[in-house]
Amino acid sequence: MAQVHEYDSVIVGAGGAGLRAALEAGKRVKTAVVSKLYPTRSHTGAAQGGMCAALANVEDDSWEWHAFDTVKGSDFLADQDAVDIMCNEAVASVLELERMGLPFNRTPEGKIDQRRFGGHTRDHGEAPVKRACYAADRTGHMILQTLYQQCNKYGVEFYDEFFVLDLLMVDGHCSGIVAYEIATGELHIFHAKAVLFATGGYGKMFKITSNAHTLTGDGPGVVYRKGLPLEDMEFFQFHPTGLYRLGILLSEAARGEGAILRNADGERFMERYAPTIKDLAPRDIVSRAEFFEIKEGRGAGPDKDYLLLDLTDVDPEVVEKKLPDITEFARTYLDVDPLKEGVPIVPTAHYAMGGIPTDVNGQVLANHNGDLVPGFYAAGECACVSVHGANRLGTNSLLDIVVFGRRGGIAMAEYASTHKLLKLPEDTERSVQQWLAAICDGPGEESTYEIRSTLQEEMMDKASVLRTDESLSEALEAIDKLRDRFTRTRVKDTCKIFNTELVEHIELGYLLDMAQALVVSAKARTESRGGHYREDHQMREDDHWLKHSFITKVPEGLPQLAYKDVVMGRYEPVERKY
Ligand SMILES: Cc1cc2nc3c(=O)[nH]c(=O)nc-3n(C[C@H](O)[C@H](O)[C@H](O)COP(=O)(O)OP(=O)(O)OC[C@H]3O[C@@H](n4cnc5c(N)ncnc54)[C@H](O)[C@@H]3O)c2cc1C
Repeated sequence: MAQVHEYDSVIVGAGGAGLRAALEAGKRVKTAVVSKLYPTRSHTGAAQGGMCAALANVEDDSWEWHAFDTVKGSDFLADQDAVDIMCNEAVASVLELERMGLPFNRTPEGKIDQRRFGGHTRDHGEAPVKRACYAADRTGHMILQTLYQQCNKYGVEFYDEFFVLDLLMVDGHCSGIVAYEIATGELHIFHAKAVLFATGGYGKMFKITSNAHTLTGDGPGVVYRKGLPLEDMEFFQFHPTGLYRLGILLSEAARGEGAILRNADGERFMERYAPTIKDLAPRDIVSRAEFFEIKEGRGAGPDKDYLLLDLTDVDPEVVEKKLPDITEFARTYLDVDPLKEGVPIVPTAHYAMGGIPTDVNGQVLANHNGDLVPGFYAAGECACVSVHGANRLGTNSLLDIVVFGRRGGIAMAEYASTHKLLKLPEDTERSVQQWLAAICDGPGEESTYEIRSTLQEEMMDKASVLRTDESLSEALEAIDKLRDRFTRTRVKDTCKIFNTELVEHIELGYLLDMAQALVVSAKARTESRGGHYREDHQMREDDHWLKHSFITKVPEGLPQLAYKDVVMGRYEPVERKY
């Protein structure tokens, strides 16, 4: 029998989005956070470069310029009502974190310091602007520590290393979750008036990625299996500066502080692709440029398969003081000293623009018509509001998680205060029990390790920065085969205590689902927009494709697609020049 816990609000995930939501919910109603990881190990803690807000502490700035950059960066797919909210609330959100004690870097006069980041400009694209607030290159770490302290202060209860496996629904209303306690193998039911998912991204479907091992799309995976839609899954961001072969991130802050990208000939190739803001162009453009440079034979190294991030002209004191972690990464992992030579880099799978569709208060959408799921919320990277559209700007994710985490937390607490606890569904944990039993009882002739690494290679080769109908069809065929092989695996370790084989097996299942949703959505979109670049359809087609995709799993055959109009506002789509 599973243990049953009762709460007003339950938040799944203890990254920046989950903790920011928990802080608001915890101030208002009885709140628990259920997390697969110990909170401060969440991926938010790995975020380096910064969080943007038009504070205008260092240079002239305005939240409208920030909104314009976000919409243009998104290749006009972002919903402009949501973008306005995010950019407008950014300033107060940063100041709020400062008051909670977050140790931001300071200007000589003692204000929060700001630096440049890709795609952030002054006066609608005139020149780069200093908009990113930062704490050295450990901004996410500081956010996570600060929010965790605050949650403890307000009495939020934590269930750490609890792996959420199912969402409980009664007549289309959310009434709780089922979780597996990793330390004991016991099942727990969290019976709640409102649930918020903040489970992060799913970059682990790609071979080269900046994402942590645990970013496997569990939250969107649970939602997808419940027959609810996922939005804009074809849009996955590749960050231009991952360490060669490893994918470990070197923050865009390096280029913000003056580093330059060079090809094998020493050429600053971004001058050709983005003459105005060059190395600080948005990530989709820079990653694509790198792929083209390598394809056309201008890559560096014996295999001509990487480019160089050149920090040698940046003041060594700035490198050591403002970029200490990434300097250390280059030294430790590649034995390269960034002060003396170029660092080998390649595009690395970084950020999921798509996810669980929500309105601007974090409430989950049940379909492309905009109907809502009562009692169910999502925020952060697992959600799609959509503020990032087809391509996210650097430093806009830490902002997104704080702004929409806060709004989601308030909205769920209000919902919980005005609604009763619903009855639990009849078969509460039975289906999960049967599922876990089946996993341990499979034929066991296939290896989950091989399935995972083949998936990562196929996705990297066929569905990453450059795509064609042919490559996506091949990827889909490969995923189908892998899904079939996955049914013939078995978890051999039957121990109940810290059964990481079981956890990783379940995570792989979610990754396979996310990969399928991504490739089916990408194959259907016969245009190029933001992070989705089709070599066989190189133009953006606003007449037909200025819309969000909604993909839904159906009992038989491939998932189905539907589309929803983009919320427009002040900015009409124009050619995206930088
Ligand atoms: C290396 C790196 C550097 C980055 N740098 C920046 C930057 O400088 N600026 C910026 O704006 N963005 C940056 N980003 C992006 C940004 O950090 C993330 O998008 C953001 O932090 C995601 O926050 P989150 O709260 O949504 O998810 P996460 O921080 O990933 O947290 C997810 C949480 O969900 C929990 N969880 C997942 N699955 C389950 C499950 N099944 N059951 C229970 N719990 C579960 C995990 O335990 C975890 O607590 C960076 C990302 C990376 C990878």
